[in-house]
Amino acid sequence: MINLLFANIIVDISHEKLDRPFQYLIPERLQKDIMAGSRVEVPFGKGNRIITGYVIEVVDTPCMEISKIKEISGIKKGSLKIESQLIALSWFIKEYYGSTMNKALKTVIPIKSSVKNKDKKYLKLRISKEEALDLYENYIRRKNTVQRAMLIKELTEVDSIELEIAKSKLGVSDSIVKNLEESKIIEIQRNVVYRNPINIESVGNYNIELNPMQRKVADDILSDFRTTHLLFGVTGSGKTEVYMEIIQNIINDGKEAIVLIPEIALTYQTIRRFYEKFGNKVSIINSKLSQGERYDQFERAKKGEIKIMIGPRSALFTPFNNLGLIIIDEEHEGAYKSDQVPKYHAREVAIQRAKLTGAKVVLGSATPSVNTYYKAMNGEYGLHRLLKRANEQALPTVDIVDMREELNNGNKEIFSGKLKQLIEDRLEKNEQIMLFLNRRGYSSFISCRACGKAIKCPHCDVSLTLHKKIKKLECHYCGYSSEIPKICPTCSSKYIGGFGIGTEQIEEKVKELFPTAKVLRMDMDTTKGKGEHENILSTFAKGEADILIGTQMIVKGHDFPGVTLVGILAADLSLFASDYMAEEKTFQLLTQAAGRAGRGNKPGEVVIQTYSPEELCIISASKQDYEEFYNNEIEYRSLMTYPPVYDMMAILISDAKEEFVEIVSRDIANRIEKSNIEDLIMIGPAKASISKINDIYREVIYLKHKDEEILIKVKNAINRYVERVEQYKKISIQFDFNPMMHY
Ligand code: ADP
Ligand code: ZN
Ligand code: ZN
Repeated sequence: MINLLFANIIVDISHEKLDRPFQYLIPERLQKDIMAGSRVEVPFGKGNRIITGYVIEVVDTPCMEISKIKEISGIKKGSLKIESQLIALSWFIKEYYGSTMNKALKTVIPIKSSVKNKDKKYLKLRISKEEALDLYENYIRRKNTVQRAMLIKELTEVDSIELEIAKSKLGVSDSIVKNLEESKIIEIQRNVVYRNPINIESVGNYNIELNPMQRKVADDILSDFRTTHLLFGVTGSGKTEVYMEIIQNIINDGKEAIVLIPEIALTYQTIRRFYEKFGNKVSIINSKLSQGERYDQFERAKKGEIKIMIGPRSALFTPFNNLGLIIIDEEHEGAYKSDQVPKYHAREVAIQRAKLTGAKVVLGSATPSVNTYYKAMNGEYGLHRLLKRANEQALPTVDIVDMREELNNGNKEIFSGKLKQLIEDRLEKNEQIMLFLNRRGYSSFISCRACGKAIKCPHCDVSLTLHKKIKKLECHYCGYSSEIPKICPTCSSKYIGGFGIGTEQIEEKVKELFPTAKVLRMDMDTTKGKGEHENILSTFAKGEADILIGTQMIVKGHDFPGVTLVGILAADLSLFASDYMAEEKTFQLLTQAAGRAGRGNKPGEVVIQTYSPEELCIISASKQDYEEFYNNEIEYRSLMTYPPVYDMMAILISDAKEEFVEIVSRDIANRIEKSNIEDLIMIGPAKASISKINDIYREVIYLKHKDEEILIKVKNAINRYVERVEQYKKISIQFDFNPMMHY
């Protein structure tokens, strides 16, 4: 007897009807050729009109009486059309990362929204360039008019700037714009036909000649047959120039390119470089765009109006018909992994998309992820290096200070003697300083010295974070906030107080030690408002402050030529996270932070303060020796059967009833155990490291295997099992394939 196969088909993917697949029987003659993403012809509706449909799934059980199921009439020949490509990609995401097809489709294909787009406003000079430059000279010397000066200067170089970009990327406020408009210095243009956020008259004049090393890398990547390439180049080595050269080649071939850049690193300077070189072939999306605006940009891409799309993770799904290249800059960044279901990784999905269309993928980083480097070492990816900065600047010198010794010598302060002395030195010389607190997974909290308990969120299994300025305790997971108690809620002792250092305490300390220094602080709290982030950075870049204090936010991709000293206050904090990637994240953060020093013409110096100077990743980071870090790390991963040597899947089971979560987790684990899969490693079930969030209890099971296909099979088997058991219908079971954090 032959196996009957059925196809779930979407007949109209124009937006709203996405949710509704129809089932058809696959005739035997077509069984070999039909898969997710296939374009087929099917009879539809009462009149059985023949229309085109897209197969989203092939199944072996019908969803209704077989006699009522119509048959697919034919398969559409020709290359995969963009819709079928994206549907095939959705299928990959659903299979690989565990989500419903619906969620995967919604991730990949933007929904048309009826929300009307805002009119775009543009800023343009009303005075001559000469007048503007005079005005600039005037403003730049005065206090409080630097933003104004920078805007005017920018407008002498470009034709017009979109108001939103001026605000979000140049840190210009509404009142400045209003003021300059009233003074008839600039004008605001509405309803004009400009398409670009930055309009430049002299597009194409951008002409930096690649140096021989860059030239070789670009040529090698273009001529190599492999899909994926790692461009491993130190910061400032000119990776962006190489990207632009490869893009130019791809466009000359009549193809299109997608450039992914982490949102936080997508600065005005980068945007402007792309517009200078490629003009209106470029479009940019960011996460602040409305559904409708994103949809419009995607429509332009589909119609071929643009050739290059730049943006964060979601730009990956730009519906280019003839995609030739995907670039992922700073490929090691955690932001490329979605933290919502489907928990896909842009790198893996990009490679999948490239394979569907014969495109190339270029992954760029100064600190490649262990995953990518492993594959490059295996020859799966091409490996290309740029080891020198394009302008031949030396890398900074780095010192490690053992804070335990400082303590032994009676220094209980946040700053080591060495760092303090260097800060004084730089302040004297009028050079800039960055102080970086590696605060991932750590913050200041209140605890009791009598019973030792920290004050926790009543809804989550985490300590509340202390915010001194607003005199409140806050939960960073659910938003709960409370007053700071005077006595311990557990034992009523009055000896309670704040522990741990945060950026706020560092700011206080700096002001106390160096009262004349001008200090800026950048962290989650000081960057809540729109444009504040760019504002702080541009203020610092203009040299208006001596010291910038911040969390990892300050280390990403920004160029401050005036900085000659970087202090890393607690290098080991990120090591405490019980996370197999802790060393990797620490190495990346330290190397990137160190890379901020000495970008101008004066050499830079870096001080790393740590309580664990023997940690290999800290030593390697201080030497800026990636290979050494990688060799130690891959040995550890291999020994501990962690990715990338093994593939790993987390199963997160959560529900409001604690006992029920335990029972279901145990049951699932038992079933996996009983299936006796060879070489499958299971850890758990166990309480997640944060066992409760927002009154929802969480358990986790980790599975590891060398063959990712096995893990995907287990995932599908668990899904089928859970669907069969009536009581399990409501419980949440999420999968995370190669998670980048510990649950
Ligand atoms: P990365 O992306 O690796 O950090 P960039 O491409 O931003 O490096 O280059 C760093 C700086 O060096 C930029 O200011 C860039 O204009 C300059 N640069 C890069 N390549 C060249 C080159 N071949 N000639 C002159 N300047 C270059
Ligand atoms: Zn107590
Ligand atoms: Zn909470």
